[in-house]
Amino acid sequence: MKKWRGVEDCNRELDSLPNDRRIRILVCHHTWRPAVRDWYGDRSAQGILDYWIRTKPRNWTHDAGAHFIVAPDGEIYLPRPLSAWLNSSSNTDANRYGIAVECVGNFDKGHDTLGPNQAHAVIGLFAGLCVTFGLGVDAIHYHCDYSRDKTCPGSAFMPRSAFRERVRLAIPWANGIIR
Ligand SMILES: [Zn+2]
Repeated sequence: MKKWRGVEDCNRELDSLPNDRRIRILVCHHTWRPAVRDWYGDRSAQGILDYWIRTKPRNWTHDAGAHFIVAPDGEIYLPRPLSAWLNSSSNTDANRYGIAVECVGNFDKGHDTLGPNQAHAVIGLFAGLCVTFGLGVDAIHYHCDYSRDKTCPGSAFMPRSAFRERVRLAIPWANGIIR
């Protein structure tokens, strides 16, 4: 599985990753399980991908999962190709035109908190995706925007408006890396 040590290296490669889909939606998730304390790097990333493959319902026409996994230490994995239309939320447009990003951890109230390395990586990655695909921060959604019964990316993850604002502030930085 492709992995970058940090978001700077990842962002530099975003526009060279094979992709033939039109991208207009970016969706943020948390893994819930594994939580931060259950994270063991490459082994855990592979475990997540294996779980998606193993538990995919037979009647799903698209694979389960997400395109990126952002680890607690700020490493970023690419478990699925960007070109893959994934069943990652219950919204067809979000799946068809979307890129899904999993933040490792359980960010529901009383559990994990987003540390500085992971925050830098996930905000930087969304900024890099906005620059690469020519999107504004209003393209950023949370999984719970599409599924009322979900809290994903967690009830204690920062509010979506704050997340979009932090990404907006990071876009000039991402532009400097990508262009
Ligand atoms: Zn989710």
